[in-house]
Amino acid sequence: MPDGFAARLAALSGAGRLRTLEALHGAQGPEIDLDGEALVNFCSNDYLGLANHPRVRDAMKAGVERYGAGAGASALLSGRSAAHVELEAALAAAVGRERALLFSSGYLANLGVLAALVGRHDRVFHDRLNHASLIDGVKLSGAVHHRYPHADAHALAAALGTAPATAEKWVVTDGVFSMDGDVAPLAAVAAVCKDAGATLVCDDAHGFGVLGAGRGTAAHCGLGAADVPLIVVTFGKALGTAGAAIAGPAEIIEYLVQSARTFIYDTAPPPALATATHEALTLALDDASLRTRLASNIAHFRAGLGARGLPDSTSTTPIQPVMLGSDHRALAAASSLRARGLYVRAVRPPTVPEGTARLRICLSAAHDTAQIDLLLDGLAAFREAA
Ligand SMILES: *Cc1c(COP(=O)(O)O)cnc(C)c1O
Repeated sequence: MPDGFAARLAALSGAGRLRTLEALHGAQGPEIDLDGEALVNFCSNDYLGLANHPRVRDAMKAGVERYGAGAGASALLSGRSAAHVELEAALAAAVGRERALLFSSGYLANLGVLAALVGRHDRVFHDRLNHASLIDGVKLSGAVHHRYPHADAHALAAALGTAPATAEKWVVTDGVFSMDGDVAPLAAVAAVCKDAGATLVCDDAHGFGVLGAGRGTAAHCGLGAADVPLIVVTFGKALGTAGAAIAGPAEIIEYLVQSARTFIYDTAPPPALATATHEALTLALDDASLRTRLASNIAHFRAGLGARGLPDSTSTTPIQPVMLGSDHRALAAASSLRARGLYVRAVRPPTVPEGTARLRICLSAAHDTAQIDLLLDGLAAFREAA
């Protein structure tokens, strides 16, 4: 066995970069039991409070009654069930694309889709702050790639201009950026893509269910299938379950069935997960009160920062970063909040760029304003003590 791992772990710890695992002893939600500690939780992506919603729980139980616990095989063998087919149809309709295809996770969807569609001689242009799974998918494609400055459609246009005219061009961006909460300038990016003849792929992990009346960032920006042909949606965030899908033109989806390795060689997701996700999707689209509550919680948090003399937030989404700069300061802030019963994690490099360690606060429709006030008071107290 190679040695030196203990020394590497010690170095990470010394640098304030050690990641630590903790476990919930009950359901996900605004109040959690974390290894016996009762905490108000501000670090889940369960933006609509669907992870433990009674209707989603019931749909999963009903799915288990009908289909059992596991799929038993990959989709191309005997693992595909009617529940998967129905969910794909509902997802395609929700985002207004011809067809959708399920993957076990967003990570696997991004790896599989980019590796299958992007050829080695193509060119890929991707936002500098894209999610790790997109970066890995681009690497796996083997294509020459260029990371453009964050959310900069002008720089993207300039970079596209340098690509050989004969090369197939792809542009890949998050819809909502996972660590900053900002919405991609998708209309400008789509216009640049159209000019350059590039195909746009949007990973909408954090926009789907939240923006555009639940239909995601493209809908929020008024963009259709001609502007954003391919959309990756994930279920582990606003829908509160797990898994993902790619939605797009029927012929591309059919090509992915033939060629996406993370689809072909992966056991199909449990059918009960599909029934639960389908119910969560219905709630996310039909129960506007969930999104209204989320929006008013976001507004309450942002107004509360100003009221306490804290720096303003520019994020309009549930992801509200509080920038602290150094790793140690971010960790100190997280532990000061924790001493007040508030669970917020410090996000440090390499997850975010050097010198931009932060608290990544996530708001949910399930929070109440008293809980958000506790958080705001905790942030103000940390700032005063510093
Ligand atoms: C969470 C996330 C993923 C990965 O999705 P999983 O289903 O959790 O694997 C992909 N892209 C973005 C932008 C994400 O935030």
